[in-house]
Amino acid sequence: MSAPGRRQIDVVFSADEIARRVEEIAADIARREGRELFVIVVLKGSFVFAADLIRALDRAGVEARVDFITLSSYGKESASSGEVRLARDVSDDVRGRSVMIVDDILDTGRTLRFARDLMIDRGAATVRTCVLLDKPSNRVVDIAADHVGFTVGNQFVVGYGLDLGHLYRGLSYIGVLRQP
Ligand code: 5GP
Ligand code: MG
Repeated sequence: MSAPGRRQIDVVFSADEIARRVEEIAADIARREGRELFVIVVLKGSFVFAADLIRALDRAGVEARVDFITLSSYGKESASSGEVRLARDVSDDVRGRSVMIVDDILDTGRTLRFARDLMIDRGAATVRTCVLLDKPSNRVVDIAADHVGFTVGNQFVVGYGLDLGHLYRGLSYIGVLRQP
């Protein structure tokens, strides 16, 4: 039974599927990247993914420094405004470091490109990227992530950190809202 007003959600990736995939991504990062990484988490949507990923990285033998950057491209609505804004910067210097940018979903590509270019401009030794979800059908900017959890179609997903108007971030799975 769902509470009145709460919309029905169809599961796209279950909590178990996500957990398995996160371990695989961490193992892949440990194999392909250095053992010391400066992980930069792009808030807000990726905080749940990042929380699981950094612990999986630790199990995989990667020593991660973790910092956060807040970028916003979406307002309250689920359509991109096309413009990326730096709302809160990292607090540590990235110069000379092996940076791994972690984001929730790669959609138009504007956010990830903004973050990557910023870290390259600041003199990071290497800048690699990791996203839980890739939505290639909606790409506007030519960018691909180095590590991808799952590919999704052109649908608006919520859960596991991803929101709609700050709702649904706490779902342990990723799903799509059923039309009311
Ligand atoms: P991009 O700059 O690649 O267009 O957008 C990336 C950001 O838009 C993501 O980090 C995420 O916050 C938001 N976004 C893109 N697609 C979705 C989606 O399907 N669901 C949710 N909740 N957010 C999305
Ligand atoms: Mg985001």
